[in-house]
Amino acid sequence: MDFDETDLGMQLKDKNLFRQQCFIDGKWTDSLSGETFDVYNPSDLSLVGRMPNCSKIETIKAIDAANKAWDEWKKISGKDRSLIIRNWHQLILDNVDDLALIMTLENGKPISDSKGEIMYASWFTDWFSEEAKRAYGKTIPSTLADRRIITIKQPIGVCGIITPWNFPSAMITRKVAPALAAGCPVVIKPAGTTPFSATALVELANRAGVPKGIINLISVSEKDVGEVGDELCTNKNVRKISFTGSTNVGRALIAKSASTIKKVSMELGGHAPLIVFEDADLDEAVKGAMANKYRNSGQVCVSANRIFVHEKIHDKFAEKLAKKSSELKVSDGRKDGAQIGPLITMAAVEKVQNHVSDAKNKGAKIITGGDIDNAGKQFYKPTVMTNVTNDMKIFYEETFGPVAPLIKFSSDEEVIKMANDTNYGLAGYFFSKDIGRIWRVAEALEYGMIGVNAGVISTEVAPFGGIKESGIGREGAAEGLDEYLEIKYICFDGISN
Ligand code: NAP
Repeated sequence: MDFDETDLGMQLKDKNLFRQQCFIDGKWTDSLSGETFDVYNPSDLSLVGRMPNCSKIETIKAIDAANKAWDEWKKISGKDRSLIIRNWHQLILDNVDDLALIMTLENGKPISDSKGEIMYASWFTDWFSEEAKRAYGKTIPSTLADRRIITIKQPIGVCGIITPWNFPSAMITRKVAPALAAGCPVVIKPAGTTPFSATALVELANRAGVPKGIINLISVSEKDVGEVGDELCTNKNVRKISFTGSTNVGRALIAKSASTIKKVSMELGGHAPLIVFEDADLDEAVKGAMANKYRNSGQVCVSANRIFVHEKIHDKFAEKLAKKSSELKVSDGRKDGAQIGPLITMAAVEKVQNHVSDAKNKGAKIITGGDIDNAGKQFYKPTVMTNVTNDMKIFYEETFGPVAPLIKFSSDEEVIKMANDTNYGLAGYFFSKDIGRIWRVAEALEYGMIGVNAGVISTEVAPFGGIKESGIGREGAAEGLDEYLEIKYICFDGISN
């Protein structure tokens, strides 16, 4: 495809970072059919680029290439793999501006957020380049004098990596860096709406010295994704599926992976509560709620979807939150000072509209926002609403938009019960200064991650993941490496002659 001066490829310092092909066995390639699908900028609906529409056949080629390359890759020392991941890390840092621009054009998020995400993505290449050297086993005292027991950890094999559009770079490094560190090859299937952040990262991994066949990338249109997904989940040479996305797709992938008993990591949907107790520092709580709620226009799995506020401080909190929300700048992510970008698709806008109108019809009061913004069709105004109750969709479903629903409560028992009244269990937050309450509530909330007086808690050094229908497994931290390793127990007999 040719690009004129205004197009993405031409705007990059390094034009070769804009790749519109798949990557199989060390080569950039088109689909066998020659078919492509279009990728649009959600801010102005202009065409960003085209990607090959692959099928089962290219997927099998990528899996076979990965499986073949694995033989050599697993024999390389952890230290040597570490050096390659470190090179990748450095190249990501060297190309922050280009990577951020690609992300803003395909995802819509403000450039400052895109740069923030590239830095977040680089935390995982940094961390796992170090962890590559630390796949420790154990020595276990035997119950028999004549025996010695050890465990070793070994790479699981080819990993299918399926990622979402809301963090198009960080979700790739959070999975691929530990897979490489462990000694696994990967076949990546990025979101159809944001493939170019993924191809740029693969280009950099290739330049960093990742051997041919170890990183492969398959793209496919949303309408044909099932065919590629089925192959990744049922092919016997794929030993692990690592997925980040919605609970419903995750559920289907688990079911398909059962046919070949694959190990799975599932980072799924969330429905985070954020609780403000009456003893909280109100300004800190508003600051935490703003940072938590509006990042990526609320399209974040760990974003608060229900904000519970104690009745004594409810009105004051609502007023402050509404004022700050109305001051946010909604605009094309490329414009200076942009804070709220577009939602990813019209379907996402319709879901937000549906949740807001359902709540309004059932008695919720909109105190700011509540409508499409003048910035464009896919921009939704930061919205705060009060009088939210548990008969509204928003109380149970993930909204994935810039909407803050406030719910009044009067006791700790009541709010814990409401906060846990969901099938999800990813992240929960609360604001309080009472140390006894802090421990009690942190232990009582049924979530995989808890922020106490903090609205943003993701870090590469702590295990990220959910319970209940929010997922299986953890990413980041030492636990993130274990997801790509198998434990082998070795027993030595006949030690004492
Ligand atoms: P999604 O619709 O589940 O899609 C996620 C990925 O799965 C995309 O690459 C998608 O491809 C692919 N996919 C869809 N159907 C498939 C199939 N049948 N076989 C194989 N792959 C398939 O989710 P999303 O809308 O992109 O992302 C938003 C969701 O992700 C939210 O629920 C959010 O909470 C969750 N999320 C969770 C975390 C976490 O760490 N827990 C982090 C970020 C996001 P297409 O793009 O082609 O549809």
